[in-house]
Amino acid sequence: MQEGLAPTWPQLARRLAWLDMPELPEVEITARLIGDAIAGAVVESTLAPGVNALKTFDPPLHALDGTRLTGVARRGKHLVVESDAGLVLLVHLMSAGRLQLFDRRAGLRDRTSRVLLRLEGGRELRLREFGTKQRAWAKLLRAGELEEDEAVATLGPEAWPDPPPFLPLLAQPRPLHTLLRDQRVIAGIGRSWVDEILWEARLSPFKRGADLGGDEAEALRDATVALLGGAIETYAGALSLPLPDRLPLPLRVHRHEGEPCPRCGTRLEAVHFEDYVIAYCPACQTDGKVLKDRRLSRLLK
Ligand SMILES: [Zn+2]
Repeated sequence: MQEGLAPTWPQLARRLAWLDMPELPEVEITARLIGDAIAGAVVESTLAPGVNALKTFDPPLHALDGTRLTGVARRGKHLVVESDAGLVLLVHLMSAGRLQLFDRRAGLRDRTSRVLLRLEGGRELRLREFGTKQRAWAKLLRAGELEEDEAVATLGPEAWPDPPPFLPLLAQPRPLHTLLRDQRVIAGIGRSWVDEILWEARLSPFKRGADLGGDEAEALRDATVALLGGAIETYAGALSLPLPDRLPLPLRVHRHEGEPCPRCGTRLEAVHFEDYVIAYCPACQTDGKVLKDRRLSRLLK
């Protein structure tokens, strides 16, 4: 792309298609920054240009018109835009969605727009989505319905700031990598941060939750709280509005396969699945074993 030229839509879509799904730290900083900025703002009008993004019709989106926004909360990886009319807009960004606040209205020419809240003074709160898949969604709910909504009611305890002890929480015969990403078990962790947390705790992604020792479970909980909290702190120091389309995730292991382990220098390895990659350090996490890469073993068959 030539410098100075705005990227075309296909260029933008290609460039952003691999965006990491926002997880607890990214959603938390979004909630804080946008929540502070919109608190007290009156909604002038609303639009849902993404026909499939809005999952509810009662109350209608325009029930927000004329109401005052009070802030943005977070539940797991969901954002909750709150209004003084007893309404909440529950938002899930999925893999490539972003909630962004703009000083001006881009209107319908912004093809990434899914849901728009036009605020007094010309500002616009937008649920946008990059890439080709339309998966980000929003639901307008009465505040009293939030806890009963399936997306919220099925969430496990928050992974940060004070999750319950991990030994009973993870006592299941499933691998840690799967358990920690299961929002019904613990809410907020996804494909990026799970690699960092397991590396920090020196645990194999394939160790079964039920096989965790007491010290291991405690180390895993400590790593979870420390890494997610550290990321939020990093963002709080580095980010301000407008939020960039691509947040600078401070990752050291995930997407760093082939590079030296930041702790011991061993080459970081990866196991590729259809839609995600597990990165790990064989020396720190798997007793030196390099795990079978399913993608490679399929090719070698
Ligand atoms: Zn290592």
